[in-house]
Amino acid sequence: MNEEHFKKIISHAKEFGFIFPSSEIYDGLSATYDYGQNGVELKKNIKNYWWQSMVQMNENIVGIDAAIFMHPKTWKASGHIDAFNDPLIDNKDSKKRYRADVLIEEHINKIENKINKEISKGKKRFGDDFNEKEFRNTNPNIKRRNEEIERIEKSMGKAFENDDLNAIYELIIELGIVCPVSGSKNWTEVRQFNLMFKTELGSVSGESSSIFLRPETAQGIFVNYLNVQKTGRKKIPFGIAQIGKAFRNEIIARQFIFRMREFEQMEMQFFIAPGTQEKWYTHWKNERIKWHKALGIPEDFLRFHDHIKLAHYADAACDIEFKFPFGFKELEGIHSRTDFDLKQHEELSKKKLRYFDPEKNESYIPYVIETSIGLDRMFLALFSHSLKDETLDDGTSRTVLSLPYSLAPNKVAVLPLVKKDGLPEKAKEIFNRLKLNFNCIYDEKDSIGKRYRRNDALGTPFCLTIDYETIEDGAVTIRERDTMTQKRIPILELNEYIDSKVNMNVLL
Ligand code: ATP
Repeated sequence: MNEEHFKKIISHAKEFGFIFPSSEIYDGLSATYDYGQNGVELKKNIKNYWWQSMVQMNENIVGIDAAIFMHPKTWKASGHIDAFNDPLIDNKDSKKRYRADVLIEEHINKIENKINKEISKGKKRFGDDFNEKEFRNTNPNIKRRNEEIERIEKSMGKAFENDDLNAIYELIIELGIVCPVSGSKNWTEVRQFNLMFKTELGSVSGESSSIFLRPETAQGIFVNYLNVQKTGRKKIPFGIAQIGKAFRNEIIARQFIFRMREFEQMEMQFFIAPGTQEKWYTHWKNERIKWHKALGIPEDFLRFHDHIKLAHYADAACDIEFKFPFGFKELEGIHSRTDFDLKQHEELSKKKLRYFDPEKNESYIPYVIETSIGLDRMFLALFSHSLKDETLDDGTSRTVLSLPYSLAPNKVAVLPLVKKDGLPEKAKEIFNRLKLNFNCIYDEKDSIGKRYRRNDALGTPFCLTIDYETIEDGAVTIRERDTMTQKRIPILELNEYIDSKVNMNVLL
């Protein structure tokens, strides 16, 4: 874990108005955060990038915005009331609570780290002649460790399949897993804990009934799929996308905005003919990894991870994992959900949820491929990957948030060189021209160098300096964040130039 970098991310996010702890004046509320003036813009841009790439770029995908509250039967049908549980375990000495599967996965990570160390050693020893694949296949230590990982994954998979919590407990004991806080192996048994938040609907006593805050946005799509299909005259395959809040009473809610109790999901359900799920599962895996890579995230920061423990609704599932400062962790899930959800809703609602396929001349319940990404996790992935300390040629250093230009909260900072002689007025004039197209910052405080640094830390792609020459030649100095190069550009060309660099089209 790169603890220093992680701490820096949290403090930078606060100092520059991206993320604040929620209700901070009351010492905060655990695992709940508020997005500040710059965070809200970055988050909105990530949403737009996702929405445009799903809804705008695919003629067979449309969006909806369903309510957070749903009829309680929804969650019976979806299986969340009976099966949306996490296996929890407590350490009797530290009184800390953990997810049993996470403890085991962290143990596997440790073994993987040992393998990676072995590979680094091999690379050093053999230099250019190093063949990683062969080394993995022949090195006895690596082989032994891989076998160990396979064995643990198999045992865990089997235990979950059989709902055998005792077997999970036994595995934790057998692997000698200790509590990271107390260092002891003094564990309680493993228990199931339902993650849904429950509340009461209705204010008159006796008339209220329990409802839930939705733990995923997907069900709002399922219950509306025929509405959309019929009113939109959609033919299979087609997709429905949605961005919205979801709520889970997480057992371990830490790691900043990675795991929160209130968070936002961007989900797309793709409705397909039964039997075509393998093809579409592969299709969406490819599409989604392309989406991440278009943001300039390097290959070695992303990887696929196939699920061992399949959720109650899935016949195949994988995660796209991102290398967060605390290691590779799930960023997005891609699930082949079969016809599980629609079939369940048909049964409980007693309404036909079949699609009539005009080509096959038959009715069926569609199968579904889902892509589901956490907006906040995506925010953290981008933020942690973009935040850098750079040493410059002159020996000084700067902190820069090198977000993709299209996603940066502000695109332009308009900076009069001095606060007099008509420069602020000229700068305001330019600001007013640009604000129609871009989020702009106007800043006249401090030296120009300090203002550049401040905007680097905010991720602003362009700084415009308005100086005495501007009044005469109608041009400004434009400084680019990443290269720090400066050039003169006529005011009349600014809109087009900046647009060509920051437009979302660059990513799409
Ligand atoms: P995890 O195993 O990390 O708990 P999950 O497998 O339960 O995640 P899904 O149900 O697949 O997650 O949800 C889809 C996406 O929603 C995840 O990939 C993640 O990005 C996001 N997500 C899930 N839970 C949270 C949370 N508590 N806080 C923030 N984002 C979340």
